[in-house]
Amino acid sequence: MDIVPRGGGSNLRGSCVPNNSIILDLSKMDKILDIDVERKTADVEAGVILEDLNSELEKFNLEFPVDTLSKEICTIGGMIATNAAGSREIKYGRMRNWVEELDAIDGKGNFRKVSKNDVSDFSGMEGLTGVIIRAKLKLIEKPKRTSSIVQSDSIEEIIKIIKKLKLERDVSIIDILDRRVSSLLGWKYRYHLIVEFESERGKIKGEEYCKINEFRERIYFQLASKEYYVLEDARFFIDKIEDFIVYLEEEDIPFFGGMGIGVLHPCFKANDKKRIEMLNLVRKLRGKISGKFGIGIQKKEFLDDIEVELVKRIKLRYDPGLKLNKGKIVDLSKEDIKTKKEIEKVQEDEEEIGFVGKAEESLIEISETEETQEEGLNGKTPQKEIEEFLDEVIKKEIDYMLESVKLEKEKREEEKEEVKIVEEVKPHLEISKHEEEEDSGRERVENFDKLLKQQQAGRLNLKRPATSAEEKALIDRILGNTLKSKSKESENDS
Ligand SMILES: Cc1cc2nc3c(=O)[nH]c(=O)nc-3n(C[C@H](O)[C@H](O)[C@H](O)COP(=O)(O)OP(=O)(O)OC[C@H]3O[C@@H](n4cnc5c(N)ncnc54)[C@H](O)[C@@H]3O)c2cc1C
Repeated sequence: MDIVPRGGGSNLRGSCVPNNSIILDLSKMDKILDIDVERKTADVEAGVILEDLNSELEKFNLEFPVDTLSKEICTIGGMIATNAAGSREIKYGRMRNWVEELDAIDGKGNFRKVSKNDVSDFSGMEGLTGVIIRAKLKLIEKPKRTSSIVQSDSIEEIIKIIKKLKLERDVSIIDILDRRVSSLLGWKYRYHLIVEFESERGKIKGEEYCKINEFRERIYFQLASKEYYVLEDARFFIDKIEDFIVYLEEEDIPFFGGMGIGVLHPCFKANDKKRIEMLNLVRKLRGKISGKFGIGIQKKEFLDDIEVELVKRIKLRYDPGLKLNKGKIVDLSKEDIKTKKEIEKVQEDEEEIGFVGKAEESLIEISETEETQEEGLNGKTPQKEIEEFLDEVIKKEIDYMLESVKLEKEKREEEKEEVKIVEEVKPHLEISKHEEEEDSGRERVENFDKLLKQQQAGRLNLKRPATSAEEKALIDRILGNTLKSKSKESENDS
């Protein structure tokens, strides 16, 4: 049986749905342990509800700035685990930017003090790597806010305004309501922008501002009461978002969302078939299927190979026995468990030769010490390290292709010479052979050019062959070195 950590249960992706599991409810761990007004930090237990924290902070004119629309129910632990994004993401970023440190229990039952550098091993992992029990959060001084409402019949005009607003530092929210959502909520059938400023610039101030803010916060609940309770969270760069909006309009799908960060919430009634079609289109337009609400059990199939690989590695590092939140984000296959067993076997071998080190669950931990774990390896987070490792693998693949293309060209030159000579004797046969090879050579060169262009454009997404061979080689190399140096040491000792 696995253990499913649960905060407020407000996630929208089935991230804490049990499946023959034990649910670990953290909602009773709801104490605010300390508020340091001078340093602007708060020390809280994982089950503290966001709204409760902010009500307490208000007494000191402080605020925790990641402000989700589920603030009345979501907990700090759940927000860290999902790397929640508030309405003011354009100004304040996401949850993990605001965590100074956290305490967690990993899948092996070990207590871990996690520093800022390694927060991403838990934040965004939806409870797969550990149960968060406490966190130290950064705070801000509560700013004065005002807002403005812009309306237009033209989406082009709205996008122009958004592009300008995005550059302004005091803008904290740019929310769009399309014409359908506007009219469903009782406004005119026009596009509306609700813009929030952390300054006096907005025309709507004081009590009026509070009313507008409350209206904005209740948009989802109002739509849900009209049966539009399935909420998506597609994310785009602003240039692509226009194409997506054209599609939503053509298909008559109502939407609202945070245009400052390029997240749109198309809304659907239950079992609307257009939803899957829309998700596929998001992928085609190179948008992110889950720009805000996480993956859980609902969005697993939309992750690409590299994302899956990264999550699996981090998961196995902290929870090799697969005790936590089984089946969320990724499915771990027998092969992955075999890798884990292989690593355990290596551990046993090491123990046999008396290596008492931190050669634990994974490739990365093999090269880490207790201290580097807390401070990040060479100042890098494990995730960063994995990314660098993948870059290295990809680079090797490109080098390999470059080399093969070179060889191919040389071979073709040589063969041209050969063909010239043989041409006189058996022209037809040899020429056709040569053409065949030239075709396959050309194809490889073209493929390589394509790959290189993709890489230069920074969107290389190689469908790499399973990296296990590479990984194994690297593990062997590291372990080989470790074992060699250990046995040298023991030779020297004896
Ligand atoms: C109306 C509505 C509005 C929303 N608005 C937003 C929004 O603006 N921005 C946003 O990002 N999300 C939003 N959400 C989604 C949701 O509220 C967030 O994902 C929130 O962070 C979940 O917190 P929770 O405490 O409810 O976590 P839960 O739903 O209980 O759990 C979420 C995930 O975190 C894990 N988890 C929970 N607690 C812990 C812990 N202590 N340690 C380890 N793992 C843990 C669970 O296993 C699960 O995988 C909204 C949801 C609703 C219903």
